[in-house]
Amino acid sequence: MTLHIALIAHDKKKNDLVRFATAYKHIFEKHQLYATGTTGTRIQEETGLSVYRFQSGPLGGDQQIGAQIANNKMDSIFFLRDPLTAQSHEPDVTALVRLCDVYAIPLATNLGSAEVLIKGIERGDLAWRTLEEQEDSIETS
Ligand code: PGA
Repeated sequence: MTLHIALIAHDKKKNDLVRFATAYKHIFEKHQLYATGTTGTRIQEETGLSVYRFQSGPLGGDQQIGAQIANNKMDSIFFLRDPLTAQSHEPDVTALVRLCDVYAIPLATNLGSAEVLIKGIERGDLAWRTLEEQEDSIETS
């Protein structure tokens, strides 16, 4: 089961996300990865994982990932937010988190929940997402 997974980190959290992706490369490499621009470049260069890159977050990348969620094309999100720094694109960040809640998409916003989510993914806990996608394609066909 290949999942569509998005990876995003605010600037001060990028090192953490790169380390996390390195530690769990053996899991991430089995799935299709997406990221906002700068996060994606760093993950690709520093882990060797292949990542589809959207725009940089402040230039609309979070909204592009949100659109994927609304289209039922994203299965889980790792979004390491920086809670101590104001972000120019805060409304986009809020919108992305909101869409995860609207569509019940698993979202990890810190390393603690990221650990739990990646282990769930490894165990196949997100198999229900595949069923949702099948139902969606039956309804739209
Ligand atoms: P970035 O965007 O990966 O392009 O830095 C992340 C964000 O700040 O939302």
